Amino acid sequence: MITCETCSGVVTWQLQKGRYYGACQRRNPACKITKTIREDRLEGTIQILLYDLVCPSKELIDWVVQQLEAKRETTSQTHEDSLEGINKQIDRLVRMDSDLYDDKLAGDITKDIYQKKHASFMEQLGELRSKQTALEGKVSKNDLPQRLALLKLTQKAAKLYQTRTFEQKRVILTKLFSSFTYSDGVVSVKYSKFASVIANKTLRTKEILGR
Ligand SMILES: [Zn+2]
Repeated sequence: MITCETCSGVVTWQLQKGRYYGACQRRNPACKITKTIREDRLEGTIQILLYDLVCPSKELIDWVVQQLEAKRETTSQTHEDSLEGINKQIDRLVRMDSDLYDDKLAGDITKDIYQKKHASFMEQLGELRSKQTALEGKVSKNDLPQRLALLKLTQKAAKLYQTRTFEQKRVILTKLFSSFTYSDGVVSVKYSKFASVIANKTLRTKEILGR
């Protein structure tokens, strides 16, 4: 998952005297003289970064989760209610247009009136259908569940990480970090946008609570 800052090559690992050392392929002459990465030190850095995400107050996180869940319910309920209203209006217009056609066939209204009214119905129908599409998008594009899952992961990742397999570790790292680059034996690890917000808020909470 780590790339070399100089050549952009992927870091590979070699076992030497019981320890893993990482380096790029060193095809670029500038990379030949650089130091290797020690896996245990890198794991230490990651462990610290994961602990920096853990909020000192569990009550606070529970409260945030609760608020977000409540918001999710009301927001999606509002969208669903509006969508239902629009669907009803669409059905009504379609019915009215079909009645209008029957009236024309029966000779109750002139062709002229029929065309005017029909055009007006179609125009309203067009507007309603674009509103319908927009609302359907909002109902299906609710990303709050993913955010909640991420928030929960930030709080348990530090502990989970210690006991996970390589594959599971990779999943945790991919979700919480955006990049790993190394230059001369030093790896710089960047949080993902979401994790970076959590890290900042956690730091601030620690300052406020004095923990
Ligand atoms: Zn390199």
